[in-house]
Amino acid sequence: MSDLLARHRAVMPSWLALYYDAPIEIVSGKGNRVTDAEGRTYLDFFAGIVTNMLGYDVAEVREAVERQIARGVVHTSTLYLLRGQVELAEKIARLSGIPDAKVFFTNSGTEANETALLLATCARGSDQVLAMRNSYHGRSYGTIAITGNKGWKNSALSPLNVHYLHGTDRDRPAFRGMSDTAYIEACVADLRDVLATATAPDVACLIAEPVQGVGGFAMAPDGLFAAYKEVLDEHGILFVSDEVQTGWGRTGSSFWGIGDHGVTPDAMTFAKGLGNGFAIGGVVARGDLMDGLTANGVATFGGNPVSTAAANATLDYVLDHDLQSNAARLGPILLEGLRPLADSLPAVGAVRGKGLMFAVDMVDPGTGAPAPALAAAVLEGTRRRGLLVGKGGLHGSVLRMAPPLTLGEEEAREGLAILVEAITEVNAAAE
Ligand code: PLP
Repeated sequence: MSDLLARHRAVMPSWLALYYDAPIEIVSGKGNRVTDAEGRTYLDFFAGIVTNMLGYDVAEVREAVERQIARGVVHTSTLYLLRGQVELAEKIARLSGIPDAKVFFTNSGTEANETALLLATCARGSDQVLAMRNSYHGRSYGTIAITGNKGWKNSALSPLNVHYLHGTDRDRPAFRGMSDTAYIEACVADLRDVLATATAPDVACLIAEPVQGVGGFAMAPDGLFAAYKEVLDEHGILFVSDEVQTGWGRTGSSFWGIGDHGVTPDAMTFAKGLGNGFAIGGVVARGDLMDGLTANGVATFGGNPVSTAAANATLDYVLDHDLQSNAARLGPILLEGLRPLADSLPAVGAVRGKGLMFAVDMVDPGTGAPAPALAAAVLEGTRRRGLLVGKGGLHGSVLRMAPPLTLGEEEAREGLAILVEAITEVNAAAE
């Protein structure tokens, strides 16, 4: 065990997840690659943890942050007028498509979702929330309460009354083989049943990830959330889209993950990629909803000058370089390269993706059951070959790839070749 790992184990919680048998220390990054303490360089197909959507050491972001630091960093809090904060809010409000949108900044996705829950429960005077099975929304008391997988929550006590819907994760025995239309109908029937039997009429909101992130990039058929929204509207129930992983053009087809569903949510939450590594998150919501809170509020670090400088530069870069189109262009190359594995290798259960968000399910070649050990083996195999990827899913058996949106075609093909090689090797050993 390395000295740093021993020190980590001694002072940090045992439940803090660490990748790899011998966890690595990343010490620097440039372009879409990072270097570890032993001088090994890796192509990063997980963009940090979907945080570095422009990769590393991006001049525009570095210089914006350095300019802000050179001014003395200046006041942190929402008690003073901060130009960068207002400018960023204007951009996000405009991009959101939400009518009369207003923005509140936080430091993380967890706080963003916590704020959205506060807005919805206060607006509706209800502590009842609909969430999705297998969802992940953060690590606070409220967001753990709505997280829909017991593997990611400890508390049996909940500040909210939560009911879970089928939907994003369609790989359940009851739904297998259904057409998209039949599946959406079944999910809507499930929603109506939940509302009729368990929670009607005073439900605050539905909160959902358009593509489940930690849940293994599980995808609902396009249009599901529009179908849900029709039912929600009948009851005045609000809809919050958690865009922490799916925002900023990552899925290629839309700027927000929910865009593919043809519906505008009442609020969206965001974080991760926005600061390209600097801590920033937030909520963009209908103005009446945002202004509906009556108690005075402040955020000490939310939207602080350094994070908003990074975020403004990052967002401008995404828009100026049309990185959404880059995701739309490279996504199919990666998917087409991986899809044949699902037919030829028994250890590959499924391949799916949208833009630069794609996944491979590893399964037991004999039984077809989720195989977390095989996913872990692929992670080791890719690391040995100089590629970082993510892992997740209900059983920890899904390889998750979300490279920086700045990925080049050559890098895409390089990462793809490594993935195919590592997966093929693990399949051969498992057969
Ligand atoms: N929502 C989603 C969809 C996430 O994937 C995450 C983190 O992985 C969160 C919320 C929580 O964000 P954070 O870790 O910044 O608190």
